[in-house]
Amino acid sequence: MRRGPRSGLYTIAAVHSTALGPALGGCRMWHYEDRRAAVRDGLRLSRGMTFKSSVAGLRLGGGKGVIVLPAGAPVPTGRRRRAVLLDFAETVEMLDGRYVTAEDVGTSTRDMRVIAEGTRHVTGLPVSAGGSGDPSPWTARGVEAAILASCERAFGSASLAGRSVAVVGLGHVGLALARLLARRRATLVVSDIDPSRRAAAEQLGARWVSPGRALTAAVDVLAPCALGGILDHRSVERLQAAVVAGAANNQLADDSVADLLAARGILWAPDFVANAGGIINISVELEPGGYDRARARVRVAGIGDTVRRVYDDAAGAGLTPLAAAMELARRRLADASA
Ligand code: NAD
Repeated sequence: MRRGPRSGLYTIAAVHSTALGPALGGCRMWHYEDRRAAVRDGLRLSRGMTFKSSVAGLRLGGGKGVIVLPAGAPVPTGRRRRAVLLDFAETVEMLDGRYVTAEDVGTSTRDMRVIAEGTRHVTGLPVSAGGSGDPSPWTARGVEAAILASCERAFGSASLAGRSVAVVGLGHVGLALARLLARRRATLVVSDIDPSRRAAAEQLGARWVSPGRALTAAVDVLAPCALGGILDHRSVERLQAAVVAGAANNQLADDSVADLLAARGILWAPDFVANAGGIINISVELEPGGYDRARARVRVAGIGDTVRRVYDDAAGAGLTPLAAAMELARRRLADASA
């Protein structure tokens, strides 16, 4: 953690593990009560990245960047934004490639361009600058692959024709996912707290309902694509879907919800497996030869294989998909460390 000489703001580069490779993770620009809360958040998120990359089979470790905005302070724009981004770039550069940054909540591909002025260890640059651009469409593709693999397991067929899917949260990922599912002739139920998303839903021929109703709708698949924590003991008791696979991070209110899902016979694709499309796409920037869309497409489609592997491991060992995915990630980390 350093106090930026240009902006006076604190910037953090959190590295949880480099066992598998450089620690990759986005940089969030966010308000915090104090520096300690920001460090805690960065460390917690960097740990999550270690497991996400490991289970996805990437040669990457887990890291996270944080630009700490004091509570109540305005979000920096213009010259002040540039100053803090360059301060953050310097923090990244000091780790000499052990941490590689990317965009996250509060930062954009445009910001990555500024950061690139101060360090080479940055990904997620705009396509025009040779980068992989907006990760959301890739995250949506990965979730699609997870849904197909889950349907194959739950219903014996990956075909979505005639299957019903509820997409909760029609933002960057949710809308892209809904489009992909519509193309596969799924029947869609969609919802968002933002009523301005309704027009896009109607263009897709989707049925628009309230978020509460979408969560417990009588559908085959539930795809949570809004915020975390929506699966708790109360909501899971009321779910009607046989499959849950979506983009939202930290879908389970706590790990015990994985047991409840399994007990109710609901197949849950662990969120950090299903939503890895963005990071997998970004990882292609770091491969020899640089970013290539066709390679990214193949790698992101591999999420289907990972989901199948997790379900196989879970069935074989009598574990929940959550426990099986964590175990797979841990084994790969242990092998790399050995
Ligand atoms: P976004 O902000 O573009 O979209 C989220 C949408 O959810 C918004 O339209 C918002 O109005 C809606 N929403 C918020 N609360 C809601 C609620 N209670 N009910 C219904 N809708 C609600 O975000 P995004 O980039 O689409 O990401 C969606 C989720 O996926 C987040 O949890 C994010 O952390 C996760 N994720 C995103 C990516 C990515 O590439 N963007 C990658 C991995 C994980």
